[in-house]
Amino acid sequence: MRETVLHDVTSETEWREQAGCRAYPPILFFGADDSEPQSERRIREDEAKQVCAGCLVRQECLAYALSTREAYGIWGGLTEVERRVHLRKRI
Ligand code: SF4
Repeated sequence: MRETVLHDVTSETEWREQAGCRAYPPILFFGADDSEPQSERRIREDEAKQVCAGCLVRQECLAYALSTREAYGIWGGLTEVERRVHLRKRI
C-alpha cells in the first residue's frame, strides 16, 4: 500500500507574514514594465534591496525564490539576474 505524504504548504509560506515588503507597493520590487529606463530601474532596485536588507525573513525568501526559479523581481535582496548567477555558481 502506498503511503500518502501530505505537503505542508503552510510552513513553506508562513514566512511571508513577516515579509518586510508587505508595507511597500509591489511595483518597488517588480517594476512597472519592460519600458523602465535602466537608470530608474537601478534606483528602484537599490531601494527595494534596502528593504530586503532589514527584512527578518530574507533567507527564507531567497531560498523560496531560488527553489521556485522566480523569474522576475527582487527576492531575498537579489534581482532575477543575480539569482540566476547564484544558481549557476551552486552547480
Ligand atoms: S527579503 Fe525582500 S522580497 Fe523577500 S520578503 Fe523580505 S522584503 Fe520581501
